[in-house]
Parts: sequence; C-alpha cells; structure tokens
Amino acid sequence: MNHSPLFYQAGTALPEVSHADGVRLWDAHGHEYLDGCAGAIACNLGHGRRDIRDAMLAQLDRVAFTYRTQFENAPAVALGRALVELTAGQLDKVFFVSSGSEAVESALKLARQYFVARGETQRRRFVSLRPSYHGSTLGALGVTGYRPLEAAFDALITASLKVAGPDFYRHGDADDASHVDRVLAETRQAIEAAGPESIVAFVLEPIGGASTGARVLGQRYLQGIRALCDEFGCLLILDEVLTGVGRTGDWFAYQHYAITPDLLATAKGLGAGYYPVGALLARTDIVDAVMAAGGFQHGHTYAGNPLACATGLAVIEAMQRENVLDNVAARGRELEAGLAVLQARFPWLGDVRGRGLLWGVELVADPDTKAPFPAEENRFARITALARAEGLLIYPRRTLDGVAGDHFLVAPPLTIGADDT
Ligand code: PLP
Repeated sequence: MNHSPLFYQAGTALPEVSHADGVRLWDAHGHEYLDGCAGAIACNLGHGRRDIRDAMLAQLDRVAFTYRTQFENAPAVALGRALVELTAGQLDKVFFVSSGSEAVESALKLARQYFVARGETQRRRFVSLRPSYHGSTLGALGVTGYRPLEAAFDALITASLKVAGPDFYRHGDADDASHVDRVLAETRQAIEAAGPESIVAFVLEPIGGASTGARVLGQRYLQGIRALCDEFGCLLILDEVLTGVGRTGDWFAYQHYAITPDLLATAKGLGAGYYPVGALLARTDIVDAVMAAGGFQHGHTYAGNPLACATGLAVIEAMQRENVLDNVAARGRELEAGLAVLQARFPWLGDVRGRGLLWGVELVADPDTKAPFPAEENRFARITALARAEGLLIYPRRTLDGVAGDHFLVAPPLTIGADDT
C-alpha cells in the first residue's frame, strides 16, 4: 500500500530518486537512468553542476528574496540585460515569473492590456493551434489545444479560436509549400469569420513540444503567420517556454526563421532545473503603452527574486562559456542520425522530427496508412516503460485525437556528450 500523500499521476508507483550527476540519475534501488528528456525538457545543463550551485549559494549568502516593488536587485537587472542581448535587442523589456504557465499568462494579459491602453477594447480573443500546450493556469489553458486537459474546464475558461497548423507528416497536398499555403488560407478565413478586429494575438510554439511531439512549423508558415498578424493589427506571442534558451540550437527557436515576435514567453531551461525562473520578453513600445496607462496589472510574489535571477544568470553564463549551442548542433545531428537508424529498423516509428536537441517520434500501427495504434493499447506508456527498464528516460504523450499517433520526445540535457549513451 502506497502511503504517499502526493497525487501527481494515476497508475503505477514511481521509483524514488536518490541522486543525479551530469546526464544520469540513480533511484533508491541503485538503478541508473540516462536522462533522455532533461526531466520535463527543463534540466538543460544536466544535474549536479558545481558552478550553478556556487552561484546560488553566493546569492543565498547575500540575499535570497526581495520583493520587486521594494528593491531593484542586481541579478534581475543583469539577467534582464542578458536576455535582451540574446534577442539582439529585438525584445528589450523583461518581466520575470516563476514558471512557463506564468510566462504565458503574463503575455496574454500584457497583450490585452496593450490594446485596452490603445482604446481597442474590442480586441479580446486569442488565436492558437490545435494541438498545442501553453500551460496549466486558466488563461494559458484557454489557448491550449489538448482536449484531455481542457475538457473539465470548458465552463471556466475563455477558449481561444483554435486553428490547425501545418502537419508535414500527414498532409495530402501536392508539396509542403502548397500545404502551408492552404493552412494559412484556412487560418485567414477563420480569423476573418471571427472578425480580425476582435483578435488580441496569435499564440504559438514555433516548434511544438509535448503537445505535438516536436512538430516543426517551418519558415514559410511562421513568416505567413507574422504577416497575418501585421495585416490584422494583432500581436504575435511566441511560447518558447520549452524551445527557449538553446534547446533547438539557437538561443530562441524563432531565430531560425527570420521572424520577430512581439512578445515571447520562456521558462524551463532558464533555471535549468536548479530554481524556477521564467520570463516574458516584450517590445518596448508595447510595455511603454501599458505603463503610460497606469502599469501592468499583473504579478507574482516570487517574480524576479534575487536567487531565481542569479540562477538564471549563472545558467546563461555557463552556456556562453561552454559554447553549449555548438554542442546542441553537434549532438543534435548525431541524435537525428541515430533516430533515423532506429526508424529504418522499426517501421512503427512513423515520423521523426525536430531540431537541435528536441526530437519527437510518432508511433503508428501502419507506416503506409499512418494509422495510429488503438488508444487502448497504451503504446505511449508501454514504450516509456520499456525505455525505463533499459535505463533511458523519455517524455511520452498520448495523442487521443484519432488522427495522429502517440509520440514521445527525446530531449536530453544540452550538455550531453558524444559518449553519453
Ligand atoms: N508552454 C509550453 C510550450 C510548455 O511546454 C509548458 C510546459 O510543459 C508550459 C508552457 C507550461 O510551463 P510550466 O509547466 O513551467 O508552467
């Protein structure tokens, strides 16, 4: 009988973790695991880093917590500057939070407040993709497109207008470019039907995370969405909670695609598993308009505290010092090649897609028809259990839309070495 007071997930009891080092974890029975998914694609520098620990201890010795309306603190200013620099100054204002959901929630509220400040109060609706995942708070859930998470809360959330993004694995169009053009045309129609003047912002993950199994949207699509936002006068919010801070091989995934968002949410890898820290990055003129109208009506107690920001700063400095982005490129190529070898051997690994060190593998019963396995076969749980039994942690997701198959993510710490197998 399990006497644990914790309730996180239904199903079998989990092994108790004992300790971790680098890309490996050990449970209380001494079993060793390779962290193939950086926990929840968060532990980007691996476990047990002395440099991060030392930076955190040094900050703890000075001051751990101050409230953002009482004191400015040097680590917050320095981390804010570092983040702005990583966007080459394209986004030059930073609002700190403690999680990805809070970062997305903050982006939604800042965007709405911006239009209220401009007198465009009729803009009250967001557009987002199905499938997608943007967080578990009610606002972020409103833009999320994943029925199992939404269903119980339909009556409580303001759902966004949901549209389909490109699916390069399944589309029946002549080629990828015409597929993207069709998807963009359908999106335009959906927005026109809803009334473009009612839209606050388009929210999307530039490369999908757990919700889509790392579906890559691509340059043509992202540039098309940027152009639609400009035409309709709404904002583009990128959710880089998972893709931000190096995961896909650049500091932010949008930087691969020659677009610039108006607002960007990031979290997970910023604290790299050492302390919760997330950030909303925004264009100055958006923030200025909101500030001139009385300030941003939003905030969280722990936001931007010195310990969180000292941790985030130590993470970014370590990544710069160690050229972690180069490692992401090199290891990413090896991972892609390794997954292709597996796919050739096991045809039920239907699609392998991703970028940098974020890879998704979709499971299909029949590679020709691309039909998913029946849901009751619980393939996502079985493959996760099999991998775990072999000492490998992967991040699974059940799809449940009857069209796409279940999938899992392979997304190890960005510091993984060529010999870490
Ligand atoms: N957005 C994306 C794309 C995510 O992957 C996640 C978490 O998985 C979130 C938002 C929510 O982040 P958090 O779990 O830190 O609240």
